[in-house]
Amino acid sequence: MSTIIRNARIVTMNKEKQVINRGYVWMKNGFFIRVEEGEPDNEIRGKANEVVDAKGKWLMPGLINTHGHPAMTLMRGMSDDLPLNEWLEQDIWPFESKLDERATKVSRELAMVEMIKSGTTTFLDMYHLHLPDFAEAVLQSGMRATLMRSVIGLCSKEEQDAKLNESLAFACEWHKKGDGRIQTMLAPHALYTCPPDYVERIVEAARDAKLPVHMHLAETRKEITDVMDNEGIHPLELLEDRHLLEGTEWLFAHGVHMHEQHMELLQSRNAAISHNPKSNLKLGSGVAPVASMLKHGVIVGLGTDSAASNNTLDLFEEMRMAILLQRGINEQADMVETIEALQMATTSGAQALRFDHLGTIEQGKLADFILLDPRLPHLQPEENILSHLVFAAKASDVTDVFVQGTPLMKDNVLLTLDEEAIMYEANRVYRRLNDGK
Ligand SMILES: [Zn+2]
Repeated sequence: MSTIIRNARIVTMNKEKQVINRGYVWMKNGFFIRVEEGEPDNEIRGKANEVVDAKGKWLMPGLINTHGHPAMTLMRGMSDDLPLNEWLEQDIWPFESKLDERATKVSRELAMVEMIKSGTTTFLDMYHLHLPDFAEAVLQSGMRATLMRSVIGLCSKEEQDAKLNESLAFACEWHKKGDGRIQTMLAPHALYTCPPDYVERIVEAARDAKLPVHMHLAETRKEITDVMDNEGIHPLELLEDRHLLEGTEWLFAHGVHMHEQHMELLQSRNAAISHNPKSNLKLGSGVAPVASMLKHGVIVGLGTDSAASNNTLDLFEEMRMAILLQRGINEQADMVETIEALQMATTSGAQALRFDHLGTIEQGKLADFILLDPRLPHLQPEENILSHLVFAAKASDVTDVFVQGTPLMKDNVLLTLDEEAIMYEANRVYRRLNDGK
């Protein structure tokens, strides 16, 4: 199948940050084989199965969500006023214990509906339930995802080993499946839920299997003081002291409570950060020093965390929140440039998740992209497109979504998921769980 989308305004996110004011993309077998200004000539049109008129819509890379828990989408709005540890212990973990297969399934489907509709093409799921079922569902949805069976190590060594074996078996079986749309990682939940020796065993397993590792890190001040009390050292330094940073592809979620010297360490170990500004604000965790991370060359992607702590899965909001927060707390208007916010949501997200050939609109890259309708009052005048995408665009402006050259949404209609049925089922299951039936 070979498709041309013509008459589009293209935000390439290539090295030159080129914007093509009127151009076309030609894709074949999931990759862009041509991205050019102007109109395709008759010879090229003749080679394509389909030529679509974008009618002047904006075409940009699909957004990449580098940290989340889609199975928690049913918990949206369930607990809005507690700090992380109380939120987990009082509300989230008790509700999670009631999540059966059906609830987990519909929660994740609801997340995928929301993500596709808001322009997200790739996401990360860190969770412990029914991973193989979800991997199948991701394949059917057409999305791209990094999946992992995350583990909590507050249990016996036998249970720890069983969890690790389960997560390793899942990761090895599914890595690069679905024409490469699925990648996997290993995932100790956090240093406050996994003893350091257990984290060490997980990292060793990841190195042997050549898999990256994902973990919540330095999310709250309480986490820092607890690890300091128990181990006498900051969580990141603990990993460095045990030689767990080197030779491992790390992606840390949050990194809120970090100092200047930690940035150098992250950069030198090629560790990436998933910045989750809204979740960090809502749980009162703080503001990650993202401007400093970027200054030191640390890879920073954006994440929503779950709908239970956000409460949306909208990366346009996340992008805007990220840049505005850095300017506000640093009292500096050019702290984090506009283009850097877009990079976090696209190219850096791809780097953070270790997806190759992803994140830009260029020949030879994976054809993951979205179209936005600019004929809306809040996007006028149309000229300053990069500014609009960061400071004015809304998730609802997204009209079309493609992953690996395949459409998942066309003119606001989802093609792979039954939006209405999923929303109905989500409400039914939520009521059932709450009624305890
Ligand atoms: Zn999280």
